[in-house]
Amino acid sequence: MTTLPDRLLTILRDFARSREGTFVVLSGAGISAESGIPTFRGKEGYWVVGSREYMPEEMATFAMFSRRPDEVWAWYLYRRGVCHGAEPNAGHQAVVKLEELLGDRFLLITQNVDGLHLRAGNSPERTYQIHGNIDFMRCATECGAPIAKLPELPLKPKGEGLTETERAALRCPGCGGLGRPHVLWFDEYYDEEHFRFHSSLRAAVAATVLVVVGTSGATNLPMQVGHAALEAGATIVDINPEPNPFSTLASRADRGFFLQGPSSEYLPLLAEAIAGGGGA
Ligand code: NAD
Repeated sequence: MTTLPDRLLTILRDFARSREGTFVVLSGAGISAESGIPTFRGKEGYWVVGSREYMPEEMATFAMFSRRPDEVWAWYLYRRGVCHGAEPNAGHQAVVKLEELLGDRFLLITQNVDGLHLRAGNSPERTYQIHGNIDFMRCATECGAPIAKLPELPLKPKGEGLTETERAALRCPGCGGLGRPHVLWFDEYYDEEHFRFHSSLRAAVAATVLVVVGTSGATNLPMQVGHAALEAGATIVDINPEPNPFSTLASRADRGFFLQGPSSEYLPLLAEAIAGGGGA
């Protein structure tokens, strides 16, 4: 049976009882893996353009979008269909429970673009989607039009090219120019306006507990969040079946824990521990 270390249980109950400090969850693709959404580390993510197979790290770039907007949009529409077909799992539900228990003492920073945290019930106010959301688009030429929800479109089979109907539906609603997925690509920079860069770092510095779940630490802001929380003396908990840069970080913290296993098992235990301490 999966259990939490006694020392962590005590820390979490004390945290809940104290009614002070904040609890930050930083999630990555791993939390949605058990909902059937592939992470970027499997064969499923590959996409064929012409005669070549591209890895997600090559497709998810502004450089690729500039050269091949139709192929990049087709890939995103396919991935959006996968996200729509998925349901939140026990890990997502536990993160909702944590927010219900802790209220304003809770914050979620997610790298996931799948929208599953919000569908599970986390509030938009306390959820920073630092890599965007696959259900939204914005103007590729930054005409100033607000971010818009993508229109409903038929499910996109893998490997199918963009249709005329889709191409027309994906124009910027403001200027009629090219629209782009509202996500942060690998060759782009974080900002506050779209991706809550400064707010995330502020939250990390103020965190009493930082729970990192399902991320390989390959992206920049999540690693900065981890280091800032470590330097500020937070309790750091990393949940992941595999060792990763955050488990190394946790091993350097005075109060650090690596819970090696799936998020659907460990996150409910964290929520139970907080509930045992009386929540907010
Ligand atoms: P990643 O694909 O680089 O790493 C996934 C991590 O999850 C790995 O460390 C893996 O060991 C771990 N993992 C696998 N199964 C798990 C489980 N059941 N419980 C807990 N952990 C598990 O993901 P990343 O670090 O989030 O970075 C990938 C980038 O791609 C991010 O920018 C993200 O926005 C994007 N992405 C998003 C989704 C999504 O929205 N669901 C999916 C794939 C990629």
